[in-house]
Amino acid sequence: MILNPIPWPNGARCACAITFDVDADSLIHIARPSDSFDRLYPISMGRYGPTVGVPRILETYRRLGLKQSFFMPAWTMQRYPEAVEAILRDGHEIGHHGYIHEDPTQLSGAEQREAFERALAVHVAMTGRKPRGYRAPVYNANQATIDLLIEHGFTYDSSLMADDIPYRMRTAAGQLYEMPPHWGSDDWPPFAHYTEIGYMMPVKSPSEGLAASFEEFEAQYEAGGFWMGIWHPFLTGRLARWRVVERWLEQVVAERKVWFASLEAIAAHIDGLVAAGTYQIRVETLPYFTRPVS
Ligand SMILES: [Zn+2]
Repeated sequence: MILNPIPWPNGARCACAITFDVDADSLIHIARPSDSFDRLYPISMGRYGPTVGVPRILETYRRLGLKQSFFMPAWTMQRYPEAVEAILRDGHEIGHHGYIHEDPTQLSGAEQREAFERALAVHVAMTGRKPRGYRAPVYNANQATIDLLIEHGFTYDSSLMADDIPYRMRTAAGQLYEMPPHWGSDDWPPFAHYTEIGYMMPVKSPSEGLAASFEEFEAQYEAGGFWMGIWHPFLTGRLARWRVVERWLEQVVAERKVWFASLEAIAAHIDGLVAAGTYQIRVETLPYFTRPVS
């Protein structure tokens, strides 16, 4: 059970969001900056995401009438403007996902701010507005990241894991929602096989790999919760895997009381409930720690 389930619109039992992190080849460039330019295999594996995966995913969303969230490093947006345009044309959301997938915990505060704000400027130039949401590359948000999000008026983060359902993070400077991901419905563990960046995962079959996400959905559905897939177009957007997702989506949309929405829309719904006083959201107060724990 969930202690404080959120009442969803139209009596839906579960809010659902498929979030795609469109990293493309940013991963190899940030990992191997000296020679990535000439590593054609990982570049091509990444390029598959925005050029082949995203159009396939968008076609399914159009057919089923779904509006969803994508997270893109700004460098990737600049390299693949057609993918950005296609996502926006269909009314989906694009969230902040770093400049070139840099890991915030590996940067100084000044470096993190520089990369964050450089990416923000790309979002404003290419989408016409500041993004509402953020997901840290490899979920590696630190306190400086949360402070930057609050400073720049972000509505939500989607990197941290302190609950099953959305909650609020509060600091002395302000607050924002957390739309919590989890590795259980992330496609990296079952599908990523990427020696160059240190992943040698045993690749699961499409149905076996996706079963983890779908079982997470069943538990959330039963509890009246929030289910979110954290997937990558170059992994789950591939032909056989997306075929499994498509069939699952068709069935869930037709037979279950679900609310598929972008994270931005889900945050706006919760905002309305909180403002109306009809829902008490759980709060996590940050920072958790201000010095090394020993
Ligand atoms: Zn990513």
